[in-house]
Amino acid sequence: MPGAAAILPDAVGLCFTCRWVRTATNRRGSVFYRCARAETDPSYARYPALPMRACPGYEEANPPGDPLHEGSERQA
Ligand code: SF4
Repeated sequence: MPGAAAILPDAVGLCFTCRWVRTATNRRGSVFYRCARAETDPSYARYPALPMRACPGYEEANPPGDPLHEGSERQA
């Protein structure tokens, strides 16, 4: 399934360190990687196919406290 991957940088690719990624974990422990750029730009997939090896929208995540990096969410 696009957007789902183990919590391994190589399995996720660029999204792992991108400031635009939002993660969610379901009850079974699967981690989903959602691209926040997709909310305003339809050229980005909401759940990108992983691993992401090249992306024109990639921006390295800033340190904790960056208001654009909301951190993890938990799905019901
Ligand atoms: S902008 Fe690209 S690298 Fe960043 S989260 Fe979206 S798809 Fe992944």
